[in-house]
Amino acid sequence: MRPNPMATQLPSPPKVGMVSLGCPKNLVDSERILTKLRSDGYQMSPDYAGADVVLVNTCGFLDSAKEESLEAIGEAIAENGRVIVTGCMGKEAETIRDRFPGVLAVTGAHQYEDVVGAVHEAAPMPPHAFLNLVPDAGLKLTPRHYSYLKISEGCNHRCAFCIIPQLRGDVVSRRPDAILREAEKLVEAGTSELLVISQDTSAYGVDIKHKPRMWHGSEVRAHMTDLARELGKIAPWVRLHYVYPYPHVDQVIPLMAEGLVLPYLDIPFQHASRAVLKAMRRPANEAKVLERIKGWRETCPDIAVRSTFVVGFPGETEDDFNYLMDWLEEAQLDRVGAFRFEPVEGATANALPDPVPEEIKEERYARLMALTARISAEKLAAKIGRTLDVIIDAVDPESGGATGRSKADAPEIDGEVHLRDAGHLSVGSIAAVTIEDADEHDLYGVPVD
Ligand code: SF4
Repeated sequence: MRPNPMATQLPSPPKVGMVSLGCPKNLVDSERILTKLRSDGYQMSPDYAGADVVLVNTCGFLDSAKEESLEAIGEAIAENGRVIVTGCMGKEAETIRDRFPGVLAVTGAHQYEDVVGAVHEAAPMPPHAFLNLVPDAGLKLTPRHYSYLKISEGCNHRCAFCIIPQLRGDVVSRRPDAILREAEKLVEAGTSELLVISQDTSAYGVDIKHKPRMWHGSEVRAHMTDLARELGKIAPWVRLHYVYPYPHVDQVIPLMAEGLVLPYLDIPFQHASRAVLKAMRRPANEAKVLERIKGWRETCPDIAVRSTFVVGFPGETEDDFNYLMDWLEEAQLDRVGAFRFEPVEGATANALPDPVPEEIKEERYARLMALTARISAEKLAAKIGRTLDVIIDAVDPESGGATGRSKADAPEIDGEVHLRDAGHLSVGSIAAVTIEDADEHDLYGVPVD
């Protein structure tokens, strides 16, 4: 067809490339920035070459993450040359500018307007920009069938190894009705699983005194349990991440038993030894925690508890570490991630005496990983023969295989369920699967006819 000479010729909009580093929280920020840019009429570029400007959303949590961020900035400069830096490393604008004097702008975490403004300046929109191009649910970097839902920003704790509060400030919660509206849109757009994230999910609403808002004719408090209950009515699967072990966490367990929220709790305990927890400035009530985990399992036998631990924290003795190992043996957690302590610039832990030598850190890390892998293998083996609900992440019609996750598996951080004879399933659907085999991290099964 020949172009209509009378039609208004719209100029092509500028293209923006994006590199998103770090945690799921940062990914949500990237999605928000892209959503705003798309609504302003920008197009996205899948590669550096086609982009008019490249955004690098950085992570500054650990020194190794900072180095990775700096490498990503260097790569974007080398490949494209027109680079805007945002995210946690925005606090270190000088370091970035010293190393890469050519960066166009540096903005900090959650300064959406600043970063969007910098893009407008670096690659101005021609007149007649397309508007309202964004689907209601925004632009997503995660697959359509699961979505991260950020409920608050910042943290009121001051854990000695962490600089998040310095980077992101104290807790600032979103309104419950705004979160629920976003959840509804995501589900309408095809999301089956909502992953609730924040720096501290259980602190949700403390800053706004849990103020209730009207939602579909009733009041909903800005509180983790109220929000979890309402989200459970909206999405088939709701998964809670980054829960700090406050007493009121116990109140969401009945919601899990009822099936409103997934029986899954991601609760970073970090250690079990009283002395180490104290030095970390974390609550030191590990015996009570064991009791509580027992209570959670009584209320909701299928609950999967995921946690992370830091080994080799300054002052951690062999006795402290052995205490942690015994505690883990007793706690029988379903999923465990571990970090070797790493000093982070600006963290108060750096000033603590008695650093643990690297080789001892490595040795303790290896011992902890071996123990938790054994516990995981035993727990997964106990699922052989059971029928579990599995959300389908990928299907290979040629081989007939598919990959998914059970209710105990969050995307990217936990295990998977590998399926045979499953080529007919669709991505995002939830299938009943008979478990046939297991290893240390994954399950293997076949869909029930
Ligand atoms: S609770 Fe988490 S985000 Fe907050 S200070 Fe501690 S480690 Fe950092």
